[in-house]
Formats: sequence, C-alpha cells, structure tokens
Amino acid sequence: MRLVLATRNAGKIRELERLLEGTGMAVEPCPSDAPEVVEDGDTLAANAEKKARAVHALTGLAALADDTGLEVDALGGRPGVRSARFAGETATDADNRARLLRELDGQPSRARFRTVVAFVDESGALHTFVGVCEGTIGTQERGTSGFGYDALFIPDGYDQTFAELPLDTKNRISHRARALAAFVTARSAGG
Ligand code: IMP
Repeated sequence: MRLVLATRNAGKIRELERLLEGTGMAVEPCPSDAPEVVEDGDTLAANAEKKARAVHALTGLAALADDTGLEVDALGGRPGVRSARFAGETATDADNRARLLRELDGQPSRARFRTVVAFVDESGALHTFVGVCEGTIGTQERGTSGFGYDALFIPDGYDQTFAELPLDTKNRISHRARALAAFVTARSAGG
C-alpha cells in the first residue's frame, strides 16, 4: 500500500517513518501543493481527520495524519487540543515551552501526551487510533533532540526527558508509537 503522510512537521515525519519501517507500506511525503489545513477542530480527532482527508482528496491515495495534545493536570488538562497555539497563533515550539513553564510557576505536574491518528484508506473510509503516554512536566528544559514539548516531558519509568532519550526509546513508548502500533495491527488484521 502507498501511504502519504499528511504532515510537514519534520519531527513527526522522522518518527512516523521509523515507526512504519518494516511494515511493507510505501511511505510517501506530503505533496508540496497540499493545502495548509486550519486546525480549528474542537478535538484532536477532528483535526487529524481534516488533515488526512485533505491529502487523500488531493492524491487519491491512503493518507495518515496525527494530531497530538499535551494535557497538563495542574492546568486542568490544558493546552490539550490547543497545544500548537498555546502561546499564540504564530507561536514557536520554544514559545509554547516558555508559556508552559511560566504557567506552572516552578511546580512539576503530572501530564500526558495524547495522539489521535486518522487513517483515510484508498476508498476514503476513515479509521482512527489513539495513543497515550503518561509522564511529568519538569521544572526546566532538558535535552536537545525531539521537538515540541519534548524537552519538558519526562515519561513514566525514566529520569530523562524525551529530548534527552534516544529516538529509539521514544519510539518504543510514546503516544505516537502506541497509536501507530494500533494502526499497524489493524492493517495487518485487514481492518
Ligand atoms: P500538532 O499535532 O501538530 O497539532 O501538535 C500539537 C503541539 O504538540 C505542537 O506544539 C507540537 O510541537 C507538539 N507535539 C506534537 N507531538 C509531540 C511530541 O511527540 N513531543 C512533543 N511535542 C509534540
């Protein structure tokens, strides 16, 4: 199966390509003329579907998109679906991390990443898969690998942040890895 990744986020692409290695799927990048999708849905699932449908409509091929949110307990579950724009419409990853540290005011907090993967198959049917990774938001940034909030997130069972851990480790335990594993299992079962 040819599978187009409906994302231009380099960090996500690196992880998704690695996670799909060995599945027999021919993974293709997002076409350069794919429309910029406004992620204005109320849920991760709505945004993921919107991104996957846009690429499927353009290419006629199966498309896969991921939408991810960080749910911080001390902030009542924020930023959640608004994680990409936490510090404003044009916020960078660094802006968003700075805002998170500012709101937490030196206190660590339980948190989780939640990923919804939307897979639109060749016929246009939608399949969704969810993955969650529990952890803690630390009190300062640590590490330089990864992207987004990785330098602040310490997954349960580890002392290092996702930005300090090797990608292979993140790809064994992450929210994205879990959602992708459910997708790969469903595909190999014919779902
Ligand atoms: P989106 O899924 O592209 O909308 O991402 C939402 C926000 O979460 C963005 O700020 C991303 O940088 C961030 N994000 C998404 N996936 C991860 C991850 O695996 N680690 C850390 N941050 C992430």
